[in-house]
Amino acid sequence: MLQGVGVGHRSIDAYEGIAPSATLESLREVAEALRGARVLHLNATPYGGGVSELLRSVVPLLNDLGLVADWKVIYGDDAFFEVTKTMHNALQGSGEGLDSSQEDIYLENTQTNAERLDEVYDFIFVHDPQPVAVPAVRGTGEARWIWRCHIDTSEPNPGVWAFLRSYLDSYDAAVFTMEDFLPPDLPVERTEMIPPAIDPLSPKNFDLPEEMAREVLGWIGLELDNPLITQVARFDPWKDPLGVIDAYRLVREEVPNAQLALVGSMALDDPEGWSIYEKVKAECEPDPLMHVFTNLTGVGNIEVNAFQRLSDVVVQKSIREGFGLVVSEALWKQTPVVAGRAGGIPLQMADEVGGSSSKT
Ligand code: UDP
Repeated sequence: MLQGVGVGHRSIDAYEGIAPSATLESLREVAEALRGARVLHLNATPYGGGVSELLRSVVPLLNDLGLVADWKVIYGDDAFFEVTKTMHNALQGSGEGLDSSQEDIYLENTQTNAERLDEVYDFIFVHDPQPVAVPAVRGTGEARWIWRCHIDTSEPNPGVWAFLRSYLDSYDAAVFTMEDFLPPDLPVERTEMIPPAIDPLSPKNFDLPEEMAREVLGWIGLELDNPLITQVARFDPWKDPLGVIDAYRLVREEVPNAQLALVGSMALDDPEGWSIYEKVKAECEPDPLMHVFTNLTGVGNIEVNAFQRLSDVVVQKSIREGFGLVVSEALWKQTPVVAGRAGGIPLQMADEVGGSSSKT
């Protein structure tokens, strides 16, 4: 049996006054036709990135709407996640491909996960590339399979794309964040574009009084007597944390007391994070105004909420990006954001729109 991820109970009614009533009503109507449908969301990690952030809200809301939804994560050892991170980077355009022994590691792990997926579902959403080959190896059964790709696969590494593509024939539909992310010659006929969204009621985003937010950051050792610039992101080359440090050093020439916080989570499926974390830490350690925080040292949702609320500027210096939920998270809190023009970020911060923000 695959490992299930426990989620809480949420009520769609709680979003009255936040989402338009008409939207909530149409959700209830659509869900009526799907009452009792057994739905599985399958991904690679229960924490540490945008996909787990989304599922933690979506799965309980599907249940509240009358569907029977589960969230499960695939099993993977270090070698497998090394391979899938290379695959992830290659799908975003990196030149490093997979050799045949890496493809074998991917398929051996897929076999294990396919055997462990023994429950029956009507709809199975497979998130990102890590579990993609499961239906091809296991057989699709009676379920309908949907690939939910969160990354920008518009210019994938041809070799890695050819490998992954051969396993996509089993899918009934695919969902992407935006049209621009569609890969060439996708073998799935039915596609939908669905940009993700933040959950205003989650601990990451709910209202946090300033005094309490200050206490939360004080507790982890951050004093707010100097201006604060923050990037909240996995330690990933595409999020460019070392580039953030370079940019911050330019800011210091004009604002000598500005402090920097790099807040990053270590996801189960992201072994590359460790080496980047070490580099970031080495850069920051000698300077008392440069801070590095991670989920491993107790920086969770509430702390991220406080950072996004109390920073003078939130930075998201992505070079390539999926959607970039962190941008909406900071904007929701009315914090100014400076971000790279990558992936879904322009969807959230269109050119010539906004440009000023008043914090109350
Ligand atoms: N996140 C977090 N702690 C961290 C770093 C990231 O909780 O130290 C969360 C962040 O708040 C956001 C998600 O992880 O909800 C990252 O999603 P995004 O779409 O920005 O990027 P991804 O990691 O999926 O590429």
